[in-house]
Amino acid sequence: MNSLPTYDDVIAAAARIEGHAHRTPVLRSRTADARWGAQFFFKCENFQRMGAFKFRGAFNALSRFDAAQRKGGAIAFSSGNHAQAVALSASLLGMPAVIVMPTDAPAAKLAATRGYGAEVVMYDRFTDDREALARRLAAERGMTLIPPYDHPDVIAGQGTAAKELIEDAGPLDALYICLGGGGLTSGSALSARALAPGCKVYGVEPEAGNDGQQSLRAGRIVHIDTPKTIADGAQTQHLGDYTFGIIRRDVDDILTVSDAQLVEAMRFFAERMKMVVEPTGCLAFAAACAAGEAIRGARVGILVSGGNVDLARFAALVGGN
Ligand SMILES: *Cc1c(COP(=O)(O)O)cnc(C)c1O
Repeated sequence: MNSLPTYDDVIAAAARIEGHAHRTPVLRSRTADARWGAQFFFKCENFQRMGAFKFRGAFNALSRFDAAQRKGGAIAFSSGNHAQAVALSASLLGMPAVIVMPTDAPAAKLAATRGYGAEVVMYDRFTDDREALARRLAAERGMTLIPPYDHPDVIAGQGTAAKELIEDAGPLDALYICLGGGGLTSGSALSARALAPGCKVYGVEPEAGNDGQQSLRAGRIVHIDTPKTIADGAQTQHLGDYTFGIIRRDVDDILTVSDAQLVEAMRFFAERMKMVVEPTGCLAFAAACAAGEAIRGARVGILVSGGNVDLARFAALVGGN
């Protein structure tokens, strides 16, 4: 492993993505402030291009390719937001992209990925090793593999969201971040440590998949089985070497929330703020809502990480009793 990325890398990433990524809004809610007795600043990456913060890291990583890498293009394995982020970034930068996806990936995700101009290569979830397949294709075709979180350029790109949040909102007492493999959390922590001294930084995972929390407690990366949770963007089995290196140094704690708490947060966003937020994008706010006295009177940043959820699933989740 090379050295860990720093806040200077986040600054460089911000310059690369400027004019390509949206500077997403920081929204307020009087209802939320009154109900929980805090001042909330919601950084709305559900309004980012392709619907999630992952565009930041992917675009930053692909922007750094040299001429030979650009010619070969980018390859990723993912059925989620990272796939679309790599596909869109490659198309904007005029390079080929291959996304390795399971044969049972939702039709909408396949269509969206192809719609951004990427070639989709299918694998069987039960018999194939997707990482081995991606590595073989990368070698055969001279493509560069971009992992979803454990890569210095991806982490630096993800850190630009918290940088913008703190620039726009001013000093924060606490920052809550949705946590899967830790790219967003580690990048955000770099920005918070540089721009908001004294700000408490929390990563938030689904209760069923608390590998990050276990890792922080154990002081080493703990691996778990794929967790069952509605937060499909946080079904990761372990943190990465880079992300854990930053998280153990710069993150105050890792918290967990239940699926029921995620649904409550989804309903609040829909009903009170008129926003569609995917279950994974609700992790941060759900934990802040449960923080009680800890956030009373505080200025609290919430990273709302994405809004990609198909409408039937959204309706089923927020409409149920
Ligand atoms: C990927 C993703 C996450 C988790 O991000 P990591 O960098 O893997 O921790 C959270 N929310 C959404 C919407 C995502 O797509």
